[in-house]
Amino acid sequence: MSDTMIERGTVWLVGAGPGDPDLLTRKAEKLIQAATVIFYDALVGKDVLALAPRQARLVPVGKRSGRHSKDQRSINELLVEAALAGDRVVRLKGGDAGIFGRATEEAEALVAHGIRYYICPGITAASAAAASAGVSLTVRGLARKLVFVTAHARAGEELDLDWDALADPKATLAIYMGKAAAATISRKLIRAGLASDTPVLLIENASLKEERQFSTRLDLLSISARAALGDGPAVMLIGKAVRKPENVRGFSVASDQRHSLNI
Ligand code: SAH
Repeated sequence: MSDTMIERGTVWLVGAGPGDPDLLTRKAEKLIQAATVIFYDALVGKDVLALAPRQARLVPVGKRSGRHSKDQRSINELLVEAALAGDRVVRLKGGDAGIFGRATEEAEALVAHGIRYYICPGITAASAAAASAGVSLTVRGLARKLVFVTAHARAGEELDLDWDALADPKATLAIYMGKAAAATISRKLIRAGLASDTPVLLIENASLKEERQFSTRLDLLSISARAALGDGPAVMLIGKAVRKPENVRGFSVASDQRHSLNI
């Protein structure tokens, strides 16, 4: 694609989607191909990175990159330096750049240095996970609300969420970074009034060939997460909307069910 897609000295914050390169937007692909340097998170799929031009510099900055993870301030500095040096900069983030992606912190650092930035959206993990499982995140009359929640707590701190607001039987909860907090999530939501048999889907490595899906219920969430999930990224979908059709009426959806297991 043309080099003119990214002006020199500007930065694109690009959502790389859940991992499968076929789930990239066409725009994201063009931007990747026009970059001279790409700073990428650990959750960006290998096959997505393979689309980068050979002469582009690929710089891992994510937590799971196998090296010491860079703190946010160092990442901001790297972006600023590259832009000031006249690079065409792509900052590749898993899923959508604007969902639990710290895009604002990076944008603020860029703007503080007079650098222009743009955002290219991506398919977020919850959308990819629901699609793989063959379910819809909203259902007319049943789930009128979709809540994106992060269950990541700072080291040593308790998870600070408004459980009463989350325990809405007409909502679907899409919980990111929730594996470590599975027991707390289950206990607090039930205590706040959500039915213990509320359907839960756990989806690990959505859209990748290592994908696994588990169908369970709220009171079994903790044990299911421990038994079923490995160390890949996983999203939890909670609510009546995510009851899989075959669990209700005994037919199978057309999505890939190779790795699915009902607990
Ligand atoms: N910006 C990303 C989210 C980053 S936070 C997005 O929009 O998807 C990281 C969390 O996202 C992980 O802990 C996990 O909860 C979720 N996640 C990212 N990729 C995933 C995938 N392929 N499958 C399942 N969950 C994923």
